[in-house]
Amino acid sequence: MSKVLIIGAGGVGTVVAHKAAQNSSVFSEIMLASRTKAKCDAIAGAIGGGRVRTAQVDADNVEELVRLIRSFGPDLVINVALPYQDLTIMDACLECGVHYLDTANYEPRDEAKFEYKWQWAYQDRFRAAGLTAILGCGFDPGVTSVFTAYAAKHYFDEMHYLDIVDCNAGNHGMAFATNFNPEINIREVTQKGKFWEDGQWHMTEPHEVHKPLNYPGIGPKESYLIYHEELESLVKNFPTLRRARFWMTFGQEYLTHLRVIQNIGMARIDPIMYNGVEIVPIQFLKAVLPDPKELGENYTGQTSIGCRIRGMKDGKERTYYIYNNCDHEAAFRETGTQAVSYTTGVPAAVGAMMFLTGKWTGAGVKNVEEFDPDPFLAELAVQGLPWHEVVDGDLELD
Ligand code: NDP
Repeated sequence: MSKVLIIGAGGVGTVVAHKAAQNSSVFSEIMLASRTKAKCDAIAGAIGGGRVRTAQVDADNVEELVRLIRSFGPDLVINVALPYQDLTIMDACLECGVHYLDTANYEPRDEAKFEYKWQWAYQDRFRAAGLTAILGCGFDPGVTSVFTAYAAKHYFDEMHYLDIVDCNAGNHGMAFATNFNPEINIREVTQKGKFWEDGQWHMTEPHEVHKPLNYPGIGPKESYLIYHEELESLVKNFPTLRRARFWMTFGQEYLTHLRVIQNIGMARIDPIMYNGVEIVPIQFLKAVLPDPKELGENYTGQTSIGCRIRGMKDGKERTYYIYNNCDHEAAFRETGTQAVSYTTGVPAAVGAMMFLTGKWTGAGVKNVEEFDPDPFLAELAVQGLPWHEVVDGDLELD
């Protein structure tokens, strides 16, 4: 029986609140807090039964966070606000002696550069306080990291090549929309590509490297090499990896819009003056783009995300592919959000369950691949994200 405070009432927060409410034997009391309380109230109302309490909080403000955490007294704070708030929420957790979990690593507002260094720097403080901070517990990072740990535990003596493949073959019927927070999403996908090979990072131009890959139940989709945050912790935690890459599918229409957005300066993250008011173009763009949370209703098709791994077992080369497919319509029926929010929120709730039921333990700042993958993957399937394996199949990637 545990109390959790969920911070952030977007698409992902909606799913975490639903899943926590469905699992009352673990989550006995739930509070959902965000910048706009009305959004929390709407989610709590949709869940019903008085299961979810709500509050207003500015998560950029440590004092406000501390006041809220002290008044509610949670065992764990689940941070599904934006990556900008990671450090303030970790500070508040340290001050109040509460454990922490998130789904995206810290990123400074004024630089589109996500790295674990800021959060890993909290290691000694969390250890000394006897507190746990679980980093990156969404799908990617999150399930992809646990998939990799599961492969290392059960299928390989040594893993050599890792390719994380992320396909969204869904159709929301709009010319352009992002599947999670537009500001964070556009900052991520317009960066240079980056992958790990032979002990160092290699850079590519944005979307320069691409090839069609076949996704189970979906078929071939053009997949682009991009940088993604779990690569940083996975190459550190699995040092036998000679190469680690991340591939994501994009449609031509999406890429064309993205190119135009960049070319006309709407992806800029530096402030400009407009009619005497300072605005940040990408934040203004977010305000006029569709809210990812509202995409669910007409969203059809599936996502397919997994890990393709090559390495050695008992002296022989082996390949292994582990993946989940998630249906946008089924996700919407259950939680009122599309599959991208669903595949992020369910693992966050499952990670919280692992911690609160004592299956994941240990003080300090930890990426999810550092915990036992078995109970997490067993529960993930129960909570709506079943996964599948292919041993010694064609990985399509040399
Ligand atoms: P949304 O933009 O839909 O929701 C973010 C929520 O955080 C909103 O409710 C917003 O409030 C709230 N918020 C923002 N700033 C503050 C603040 N200062 N104080 C309090 N609340 C604040 O995002 P998503 O739900 O799509 O994504 C949530 C997180 O999940 C992001 O960090 C994203 O990077 C991560 N993510 C991780 C994935 C993974 O697989 N690991 C995949 C997809 C997303 P308001 O409504 O008032 O703006």
